[in-house]
Amino acid sequence: MKTIFSGSITKRYLLALGLIAFLSITAYFNLYYLIKTQKMSAAVINESGRQRMLLQKTALLCLQLVNSQDTDEREAIRLQISLAIDTMESAHYGLIYGSKELNLPGNPPSNIHSIYFDPPVPLDMLLSNFIAHVRDFVREPDSNLSRNNPHLEYILKSSQGDLLRSLDIIVKEYQIHSESQIARLQRLEAILLFTTLSVLIFEALFIFRPLVRRIRQETVMLADSNKRLRNLSTIDGLTSIANRRHFDYYIDSEWSRAIRDASWISVIMIDIDYFKNYNDTYGHQTGDACLKAVAKELSDNVKRPGDLVARYGGEEFVVVLPDTDLAGATKVAENLRACIEKLAIPHATSSVSQVVTVSLGVATTIPTRQSLSSSLVSQADKALYQAKHEGRNRVKQSESIITAVMPLQNFN
Ligand code: GH3
Ligand code: MG
Ligand code: MG
Repeated sequence: MKTIFSGSITKRYLLALGLIAFLSITAYFNLYYLIKTQKMSAAVINESGRQRMLLQKTALLCLQLVNSQDTDEREAIRLQISLAIDTMESAHYGLIYGSKELNLPGNPPSNIHSIYFDPPVPLDMLLSNFIAHVRDFVREPDSNLSRNNPHLEYILKSSQGDLLRSLDIIVKEYQIHSESQIARLQRLEAILLFTTLSVLIFEALFIFRPLVRRIRQETVMLADSNKRLRNLSTIDGLTSIANRRHFDYYIDSEWSRAIRDASWISVIMIDIDYFKNYNDTYGHQTGDACLKAVAKELSDNVKRPGDLVARYGGEEFVVVLPDTDLAGATKVAENLRACIEKLAIPHATSSVSQVVTVSLGVATTIPTRQSLSSSLVSQADKALYQAKHEGRNRVKQSESIITAVMPLQNFN
């Protein structure tokens, strides 16, 4: 069991298909053989029955020959007898040795073979003698054609006696043999059908069902790992918040929605103050930990489902606030600034505070089909630069609100 069914899915599947193919081919050949056997049996029974009829016809013609007074008529009867006896002779050899012309397979089964050749009265000998006597009789001159002719006496005796009886037996034996042969093939056909159905049920239970289950499991696993891959490609490795790639995708989709709804959309750019100094003072690893803490604090304090915090690069973060005007975005920005300050991460080398602080730039617009999201981002960046310039640890709004979004290209 283990060796056959512990193989790969492809192996099991091929084995299942191979088995069904083998059984189908066997069933086909059995059916083909059955039809062929039926045809041949019909020919054998037909020919052996005809032998019996020819025997009696020959005897009758021989009598007619004796009784006929007309020379021409006698010649015609002689010809008929010769034809009948030739037919009988070729059918006899056809039945024993086979004949393509008569569609006879020859090689009779052993019990029939012994009727032909075994003592006490082999049919082959009886028939040969009968044919020889008939030929001799046909050749007799007209003067010898009488009821007392010894050939005729033999012929009439044979047509009633042993020869007739043997031919009768042969017909019956051929019938019995053919019926049993066909019944055997029909039984075999039924066995093949039963086996095929059993194999199909077995395969459905033990091959196809586990196969489908495994494919289903693997599909679920594949979907899972796809999801994980998707997450990996959208999440920043260090801070576990959205990465720049996801931000680019997200702002574009929210941008399109804002165009459709003619709604506000805001962006906040955030940069840690004097972070180079922080790294220099506390080391790169502590710098990384600080970035993580800042990212978490930003994420935790951006509340609406549509809001997104992403790492823009280095120690810069960006927040997308769909459906939010300048006043709302500025409030969010101010809250974020205060939250980071409240974290109270010591920063001894900052010129603006004793703790880590951030500067923020806010830009807002109602986008149109002529505007680009990158313009809004660059306006927020300019505001951030302004916040740095004015002393850091503060929020600065973009000076131009709607006009900040410059049409870079005319799409109409
Ligand atoms: P400013 O207040 O003007 O923003 O000063 P700053 O020092 O923060 O600005 P600057 O852009 O000169 O320095 C950014 C520094 O952030 C440079 C680098 O040391 C640090 N940094 C950027 N990415 C990472 C990071 O992934 N991990 C760590 N630990 N530090 C980073
Ligand atoms: Mg920077
Ligand atoms: Mg900085």
